[in-house]
Amino acid sequence: MKEDVRALAAEFKAFLRSREEDDLTPAAFTQAAAPSADETETSSAKDRLTVRFVRERELSHAKPAPLSLQETPRAAEETELSAPVQTPVQTPAVSSVSSDREVPVSAAEKQAALDQIAQEIRACKRCPLGDTRLHAVPGEGNPAAELMFIGEGPGFDEDHQGRPFIGRAGQLLDKMIAAMGLKREDVFIGNIAKCHPMVNPQNPEARGNDRAPNQGEIAVCRKYIERQIAAISPKYVVALGGVAAKALISDTKSLGALRGRFHLLHLDSVELKTPVKILATYHPAALLRNPGWKKDAWADLQMVMAEMGLKRPAA
Ligand code: SF4
Repeated sequence: MKEDVRALAAEFKAFLRSREEDDLTPAAFTQAAAPSADETETSSAKDRLTVRFVRERELSHAKPAPLSLQETPRAAEETELSAPVQTPVQTPAVSSVSSDREVPVSAAEKQAALDQIAQEIRACKRCPLGDTRLHAVPGEGNPAAELMFIGEGPGFDEDHQGRPFIGRAGQLLDKMIAAMGLKREDVFIGNIAKCHPMVNPQNPEARGNDRAPNQGEIAVCRKYIERQIAAISPKYVVALGGVAAKALISDTKSLGALRGRFHLLHLDSVELKTPVKILATYHPAALLRNPGWKKDAWADLQMVMAEMGLKRPAA
């Protein structure tokens, strides 16, 4: 520690020598750029040099030792004069802490992030769907889910209650989740578009008035599902239907061509800390219209179960 302080003192003296001819002349100070906020806290030329020394030292060291603007050079000078050694205060490194804080880690932090996103969604009018919805549908489920199910957009029942997948298609999704040995509360369920896309937006009370979100609506709204995925940080996503699959896999192939294998999740606005595998399957509403496809959908879900180490519950 003593050697470190002596080395710092020598470094500071060398710095002072290098500035003697230019920085310490009155002309140099009057011509200098206006001092920044922390520079104005110092009153003498030497104090300004101290600030510069600290800054330049920080820039020239990949991992600078924690320095206090007041104590370190002063402590160095005192050491040079054989005064009692002043131990530099150990301040915590803040850079990694602040970047880690951006990514929710605990379930409570993830829930807080999801609550914030849901609040923004409920206030959102970024696309015309916001003017005709009854309720925005942010999504719901386990904030620390390993598995997310993502569909294309809310329908009549969801629009009326503000919850995802609660109509007939949602009841089938619940059965699909149960067949995997999971409960609805174990996973997170959401949509790419958060408001009800309607064929006739003037009539939200009509059943059968549903349509898929168009490309413009998806482009505007997808930032919300991307932020939700980043907050939850699941290991797997199941895209329900071709619209969600194409958007999240970023591939224009048909659902039939995208099914049957895992892809890497593609997000536009968020960088994921860890890669997320995504598997495409049929939307439950499509399975209600075409029950013959249930066998293929079950085969898809079994692929996810195998990856997650899930066993089908005993009947
Ligand atoms: S669909 Fe998405 S972008 Fe459009 S108003 Fe609703 S939340 Fe906003």
